[in-house]
Amino acid sequence: MSTFPSDIFAGKRFAVVGLGKNGLPAARGLAAMGAEVLAWDDKESARRAAADSGAGVTLRDPASGPFDVDALVLSPGIPHRLPAPHPAAAGARAAGVPILTDVELLYQAVRAAGSRARFAGITGTNGKSTTTALLAHILDGTGKPVAAGANLGPAALSLPLLPHDGVYVLEMSSYMLERLATLRFDAAAMLNLSADHLDRHGDMAGYAMAKRHVFDRQTAADLAVIGVDDADSRAMADWLGTRPARVARISGFDPTLPLGPALPGTHNAQNAAAATAMARFLGAPDEAIAAGLLRFPGLPHRQQRIVTIDGVTFVNDSKATNADASERALVCYDRLIWIAGGMAKEGGIEPLAPLFPRVAKALLIGRDAPQFAETLTRNGVKFDTVGTLDAAVPAAFAAAKAEGAPVVLLSPACASWDQFTGYDQRGDRFAELARALPAPIVAAQSVSTQAVSTQSVSAPVLPAAGPPAGASPRGGA
Ligand code: ADP
Repeated sequence: MSTFPSDIFAGKRFAVVGLGKNGLPAARGLAAMGAEVLAWDDKESARRAAADSGAGVTLRDPASGPFDVDALVLSPGIPHRLPAPHPAAAGARAAGVPILTDVELLYQAVRAAGSRARFAGITGTNGKSTTTALLAHILDGTGKPVAAGANLGPAALSLPLLPHDGVYVLEMSSYMLERLATLRFDAAAMLNLSADHLDRHGDMAGYAMAKRHVFDRQTAADLAVIGVDDADSRAMADWLGTRPARVARISGFDPTLPLGPALPGTHNAQNAAAATAMARFLGAPDEAIAAGLLRFPGLPHRQQRIVTIDGVTFVNDSKATNADASERALVCYDRLIWIAGGMAKEGGIEPLAPLFPRVAKALLIGRDAPQFAETLTRNGVKFDTVGTLDAAVPAAFAAAKAEGAPVVLLSPACASWDQFTGYDQRGDRFAELARALPAPIVAAQSVSTQAVSTQSVSAPVLPAAGPPAGASPRGGA
């Protein structure tokens, strides 16, 4: 692994708009590769951070003058079409300047540097990060040079230059996929589709079209992995049949190699099946795949066990930002206290109704708590609207004891931006609050030292283990 030559983009001029966790590394990376970079963010604080970072960029709004650049690198969070194009995107479009994602420029840089390193791209509504991390973990175990990132982080343009036998494992959001020009994935996977981000894609068909771009430019030498556990993905599998790439149809219901404790549930079986198909194609031997699936440590905020206090296990599934993702967690526990709410996606928690009998009580937080309250009332589920996570965690602990539920699950089925900077901040706060709960006060005369130590707050469990004792994992994984 090494850094890119400093003249790869000499003579090129890029505008980078949006200087956040993708944009700033993009601006810095492109400048380090010899390009002239005009960097811009509508927020003054982000512009200042870029100026202070020593990234070697010029701060200029590309929409403020002639749009004389080779490409606009637009942050994934900034729309170029729906709900309304950002002025920089509109300017680029009017000037005929391509709008690209940082991943496209990574690919161009790798090829310009003369490396034949292969590219694996993973998309889908849910499971992208898990599958990306799992595939990288498996390939790592084979001794191949591997760099994983993109949507999951680290940002594409902060990844190193890999040699010919290296593999880039990249998590691709639908926004990134719409901004590719030449990148061809040797192995591409589309895991599943459910309603999400429809504000940016118009409707389900638009969303599916964006996801389909992961297979663009693939040839007969490439692998296309497609999940077939939902109707929209099956339609895409049929379409793939008309394309040149070799197709692997994968399901969470097919038998897999044994999975470790960080991969509970059918949904993770789907992720494992995708990672296995891609790893095989990329040359990983079966033993390395089997070992990788067993030893995968899991990712934070995805059914991550935080702490067990007085027999109640706190599980952080903050990453579940839509109902489909929450369903995957709810199904793993027979009886639980559920913390949900935030900024709801279309349809709210309505699709989760069949799982409501498992919910001993719900605690609702965030902007769309009233909408969830309405759904729960109609379905006869006990709940309290508590507003904030700070109020929800102690209330959930009390409810768990009162209801005899062994699990408190934060799986909000909502985006977090009404109260947090992101799902990670929300999950971290949950963990902090859970760990700060008072351990039970045990009458000294009635328990032994050992009993006291097992009843006190146990150490944080990391990496994630499977569903806690007392909860039965769903069969069929
Ligand atoms: P993404 O990166 O696509 O958001 P993650 O791997 O971070 O996906 O998982 C986020 C959440 O989505 C998990 O906590 C789990 O609830 C759910 N999930 C994970 N994999 C799948 C899958 N294959 N199908 C459906 N839901 C999934």
